[in-house]
Amino acid sequence: MYILVINCGSSSLKYQLLDMDTRNPLAKGLVERIGLPGAILTHRAANKEKEVMTAEIPNHTVGIQLVLDALVHPEYGVLRNLGQIGAVGHRVVHGGERFAQSVVVTDDVMEALEECIELAPLHNPPNIAGIKACQTLMPEVPQVAVFDTAFHQTIPPYAYLYGLPYEMYEKYKIRKYGFHGTSHKYVSQRAAILMQKPIEELKLISCHLGNGSSITAIRSGKSIETSMGFTPLEGLMMGTRSGDLDPAIVSYIMRKENMNSEQINDFLNKKSGVLGVSGVSSDFRDIEAAAAQNNMRAQLALKIFAHDVKKYIGAYAAVLDGVDAVIFTAGLGENSGSMRDAICEDLDYLGIHLDDEKNKVRGEEVDIATEEARCRVLVIPTNEELMIATETLELVS
Ligand code: ADP
Repeated sequence: MYILVINCGSSSLKYQLLDMDTRNPLAKGLVERIGLPGAILTHRAANKEKEVMTAEIPNHTVGIQLVLDALVHPEYGVLRNLGQIGAVGHRVVHGGERFAQSVVVTDDVMEALEECIELAPLHNPPNIAGIKACQTLMPEVPQVAVFDTAFHQTIPPYAYLYGLPYEMYEKYKIRKYGFHGTSHKYVSQRAAILMQKPIEELKLISCHLGNGSSITAIRSGKSIETSMGFTPLEGLMMGTRSGDLDPAIVSYIMRKENMNSEQINDFLNKKSGVLGVSGVSSDFRDIEAAAAQNNMRAQLALKIFAHDVKKYIGAYAAVLDGVDAVIFTAGLGENSGSMRDAICEDLDYLGIHLDDEKNKVRGEEVDIATEEARCRVLVIPTNEELMIATETLELVS
């Protein structure tokens, strides 16, 4: 079966068409600047030249129509007709407490998704717009929603509740939800395959380190703790997000800098993190380059980040009562040997020892621990599209 995977952001839309017999993408692409002047569709079919098109794309429905046109285009398309698409899998950021797994979209599900908007006001509306657009353009094709939060619904209440009056949870559903669930689930399943052990027997710590970063403790294939919280702002310091803070700092900065709640939200989400500390960039490649030129603040940003990750690994080893493998994934985790090295330094007590040669690897599945180390350290490129397509296929078959 061919499955189309759609990931709608506020002004962008990523897509991938997968052949589930081979699990390979037939085509993928990106629509940018939806609703803005100068919108662009970049489409790449397997074994064909990249196509870049500019068009008026006022909304997600027009964007998805262009994607469908590209998929059946006689020159750069890959399908004879749209009837070949068996189902569409949509990435949805927030499923609240309602969705502990992926679901086929029905009217009830749409209603529940609308209710989750309150929890993710920036992310869920474009996700919903993408589903509605596909329903309009492909009314016969089943639509499936795959949630970033679903994998973390196994976290127990003592780990997901904050030290706030319980009414805050009852009234406003304030609790830890966790994100990047599709990625953590995918790499943990791959880890079990690579280790040739049933996932039920494994204690794993999965480190998704990209622009946004989160760490998850996984026991028997289930998430039992994760570093992101009520929103993706909690946990590690990230590209532009502060991560964990003393909450008193928030009102202090608001008073000192004369900020309202929107401004402080923007400040903590977009101007902080390694960008704010280094003053260089939110991109780790730029920061590594500046650090190599002896930029002190860039060096500091890298040190803080590695220290943060190390703290979470230690905490999660305690929560799991040991660890069989630490997994590195996403842009930084997959590619930066020096960051993996900095994180894994002095973790002898966990049986973590890197093989310097193997740690030079970039972007492929490999065990970078020494042969004799007690704990495996795995680099596993994430593949959220494949995970979304796999879950979609399971639900519609
Ligand atoms: P997102 O969270 O947006 O999906 P990615 O998983 O693509 O992000 O990760 C992007 C981050 O990965 C960027 O900060 C980028 O600098 C970093 N990254 C990608 N390649 C490398 C590399 N070779 N060395 C260091 N960092 C890298």
